[in-house]
Amino acid sequence: MHLLQGILGLLFPRSCVGCGVADPTPLPHLCRDCLMELHPICDPFCRRCGRPAWGLIDGDYECSFCRETRPAFDSARSVMLFEGVLAEMIRMLKYRSALWLATDLAAFLQHGWETFFPADSFDIITYVPLHAWRRRLRGYNQAALLARGLGKSDRRALVRSCLIRTVPTASQTRLTASQRLTNVRGAFAVRISSRKWVEGKRILLVDDVMTTGATASECARALKAAGAQKVHVLTVARTLY
Ligand SMILES: [Zn+2]
Ligand SMILES: [Zn+2]
Repeated sequence: MHLLQGILGLLFPRSCVGCGVADPTPLPHLCRDCLMELHPICDPFCRRCGRPAWGLIDGDYECSFCRETRPAFDSARSVMLFEGVLAEMIRMLKYRSALWLATDLAAFLQHGWETFFPADSFDIITYVPLHAWRRRLRGYNQAALLARGLGKSDRRALVRSCLIRTVPTASQTRLTASQRLTNVRGAFAVRISSRKWVEGKRILLVDDVMTTGATASECARALKAAGAQKVHVLTVARTLY
């Protein structure tokens, strides 16, 4: 293994995605200086969906989106704001086959898991699925890679593919919050063969980016309909719509 790593290191020397410095730490492809440029999401935020809030608010604050739409997940948390070099890393993983960045991005998720949830919170880790044709087109599901990376953490939970996307929904990128909700309504279902991994289980649902939480909520709705006890959501990054 060490020999293989050595050979790979010669062929593909590691460098920081942000500044290009060789052999960055603490992450395989992100140096400390570039990491420090990013913005972690911390209190205050909406206790339901984790959307950052500004100003003086109390611990029970729920944002207007959550008050109006009652998301199906128990809570959602994101580790960082979607911006700068982190946004670039996520786009590279998602659209330019930079699979080697999955380890770096899973490290953010691991940090989020430790920050936001107690050690023994989950039985199962699952992820937001792609529709089969998009999965075939891209060749991989970036959220699945992140979930598998998270599954290697010291905290133990089984990583299972539980959900399928039954409707090839349009890209959410240019939609408003309410259009996003309509766009993904009923778009997910639990695989028949995965019901045993869902019923009565405490589930951590993983994705790369969260915007309104509409997609995560619809996934949670399908998981709850199949008997999940709890569904919490963790994403690497959060965009502010
Ligand atoms: Zn750097
Ligand atoms: Zn909220």
